[in-house]
Amino acid sequence: MKLDRNRELYERAKRVLAGGVSSQVRISEQPLPLFFERGEGSRLYDVDGNEYIDYVIGQGPAIFGHSPRFLLDAVADATRQGQTFGGQHELEVRVAETVQEMVASAELIRFGSSGSEVVHAALRLARAYTGRGKFIKFEGHYHGWLDSVLYSTAPSMEAAGAYDAPEAVPGSAGQSPGSAGEVVVLPWNDIDVLRATLDGQGKEVAAIITEPIMCNSNCIAPRTGYLEEMRKLCDQWGIVLIFDEVITGFRLAPGGAQGLLGVTPDLSTFAKAMAGGFPISMLAGKREVMGQLEEGTAMHAGTYNSNVMVMAAAEASLRRLTEDGGAVYRHLYATGQTLMDGLRETARKHELNALVQGYGPVFCMAFSDASEITDYRSHVESTDRETYARFRQGMLERGVRVTDRGTWFVSAVHTEADVEQTLVAADEAMEGL
Ligand code: PLP
Repeated sequence: MKLDRNRELYERAKRVLAGGVSSQVRISEQPLPLFFERGEGSRLYDVDGNEYIDYVIGQGPAIFGHSPRFLLDAVADATRQGQTFGGQHELEVRVAETVQEMVASAELIRFGSSGSEVVHAALRLARAYTGRGKFIKFEGHYHGWLDSVLYSTAPSMEAAGAYDAPEAVPGSAGQSPGSAGEVVVLPWNDIDVLRATLDGQGKEVAAIITEPIMCNSNCIAPRTGYLEEMRKLCDQWGIVLIFDEVITGFRLAPGGAQGLLGVTPDLSTFAKAMAGGFPISMLAGKREVMGQLEEGTAMHAGTYNSNVMVMAAAEASLRRLTEDGGAVYRHLYATGQTLMDGLRETARKHELNALVQGYGPVFCMAFSDASEITDYRSHVESTDRETYARFRQGMLERGVRVTDRGTWFVSAVHTEADVEQTLVAADEAMEGL
């Protein structure tokens, strides 16, 4: 694998970009943060001419692969009329109407540009609505990089504290000291701990925020009845339930994980797969809570919100996701399933304990003796990350790009031939382990 030009650019980048990157999550990429020249379909091409089948797809957004013609055409056509008006346009109403039809809880909607900012807006609305200050988040869940939520996203076991009363471990130096007092961190998938915590401080809690399917640490389904019980507890205590669907929204089903699982939150956040790679995010929720914005009691704004390009991308994406009776979803699930089965089979052949769990459109692969991973601590304690890092490197050298945390994102343009080639690469990479 030739990386000369990548190395050269990285050295140059480090002289002008802090850490050589523009997002902290890219800084630790091994063997170095790569520089890409172009993406086409399921493939990425780096500046040294290396070609990769890409399962990172921008960390999830490129659900139609790279440079999809229909999306580029829709954006190019729309942007000839203008880019950002600092005012309303019909396209944003059309997209919101489409979302309303797709997502059961989306009685009212606001658009934004990144997942982090709509999470921020959701928490603000929950506080404005309840008049309370605290919120509950779960260990291993990631809700963006802002001060309030960047706690216990990936804490070390030494720092994590007691299982049923975890420490709120900050993810960054410089977080507002006051924010630690507002967040209550709990283990996920344990309704008894949640119930006991609410018995103690339920009246102080404005919101519970959760990934409905935990995709930022492994890919973990909620236990049977867990989210339903969480919903009931929120009703009982007058707490706003927020589903963070930044990854799951429009990826797992047209109505998001909430549609798939049949549990309705009060507020939810969406982003990534909604506009095929264009920078969109969305806050959606019940009229009663979103009404804080109608009345003007709560504030949410953004210069780039609902700009012409992202709205055109969202309209084209949502149309593609819903046409042909859900053909895109059938492809995502079938392709993902073949990959998951193939990876399990390949690991068995090499007598490696690989745990591949999740859903077709997104799943996680880890080397682990566990038969199932159900929360952050079982993920950390039972997975062999060093072996996965070597596997990932072996895949990269064989032209397959996967995330370093084990999450695989499938797109509508990954083909059977891609999967076959991926499994051949996996076979060879596992041989080397
Ligand atoms: N919420 C979840 C579940 C995420 O996975 C992410 C990012 O990966 C975010 C929020 C933050 O979104 P963004 O990176 O667009 O700010």
